[in-house]
Parts: sequence; structure tokens; C-alpha cells
Amino acid sequence: MNIVLMGLPGAGKGTQADKIVEKYAIPHISTGDMFRAAIKDGTELGLKAKSFMDQGALVPDEVTIGIVRERLSQHDCEKGFLLDGFPRTVPQAEALDSILDELGRPVEHTINVQVEKEELIARLSGRRICKTCGTSYHLVFNPPKEEGKCDKDGGELYTRADDNPETVTNRLEVNMNQAQPLLDFYEAKGVLKNINGQQEISKVFADLDALLQGSRS
Ligand SMILES: [Zn+2]
Repeated sequence: MNIVLMGLPGAGKGTQADKIVEKYAIPHISTGDMFRAAIKDGTELGLKAKSFMDQGALVPDEVTIGIVRERLSQHDCEKGFLLDGFPRTVPQAEALDSILDELGRPVEHTINVQVEKEELIARLSGRRICKTCGTSYHLVFNPPKEEGKCDKDGGELYTRADDNPETVTNRLEVNMNQAQPLLDFYEAKGVLKNINGQQEISKVFADLDALLQGSRS
């Protein structure tokens, strides 16, 4: 079960990734975890990646791709893997295809968890924080009992600058512009499968699971 899972921030990709790797007992491979492991193990590529990160620079594709190749070559990936956050660009996707060709482990499922922009904005801008005790709420997922007031101490709830709709919209548009060429690339190859992420978490997982089991295409 070799899976590439994609989705914009707020689409619930991380939650679904956790459920998939649990059910199918395959490693969850995210770029952040791979970088951390390579740096911790002090591999040559890990040290290279670290030198860029220490300068606050983007890690170049060749380094990222090298780290992915090392990770996917490991034994625990023989029974499958879920890639999360990689590839992010078309050159990375092309490199991934050639790495997996070499390893004889092609991607079987390229999945995008799809949620409308307006819904993503609502999800990403829904956080509210208590001025008194700092407890965090979410208008959709974890609303306070009384609007605008903390359940614990009645404190006033406020929106962090990071969470205001304009900031969220700008950030989301940057992500959408980055993601589109990759989605187009997989669409053109005829392998992209979209899952409706705008449903209950359990329903999204049921759809994903059905797709993975091949009863849907
Ligand atoms: Zn409070």
C-alpha cells in the first residue's frame, strides 16, 4: 500500500493520515519527520539539510529528494508507506517516480483530500482564545458553551492576528498556488483521486478506506 496523500491546510489530511497508517500498519513519512531523523542520525544529507535550515533557508530539492530516497529504501517501507507533505513540487514528484521505479515500489494511490476554499477559511480562522486563562476554542470543532465567553472563567474570547480571515486567506492562497501545478501533474497522468474532505471525519475515512481497498476509483 504505497500512498501519496495531499491536502491543503485545514483539509484534515493529518487526521486521515494517522487513521490510515494505524489501520494499514505502514510508516507515516512526513518531510518534517524525515529531516529530523536524518539530522539526528547525522547522515551526510541530514547535515546538509541542517546547514540550510540553520540559515533559515529552504532546503534545496536535491537534498530533500536524497533524504526521501534514503527513507524509502529502508526495510519498513517494503510493505508500504504513506507520504505526507512530499512531493510538494512537480520536480519532486518526477524525482519520486524515478526513485520508486528504482526501488520497484510504485505509488498505488495518489489522493487529494478536497475541501472548498470558503470552508478552509472558516476552519482555519475559527480559533478563539480566552484573554484570562489562554484556553483555546474553535467555532466549528470545539465551540464555547456561550458565544464569546470562556467555559472555565467567563473570560472574553479573542482572535489571534494570525487567525484573522484576511491573514488566513492570504496564507491559503499561497498554498493553493503552490499545490495546483502538482495536482495538475497528477491529474494529467490520470492517477489523481479526490476525496471529499467536507464531511464528518469518520465519513472521510470511510471513503478513503473504500478507495484504498479498491472498491471505488
Ligand atoms: Zn478562560
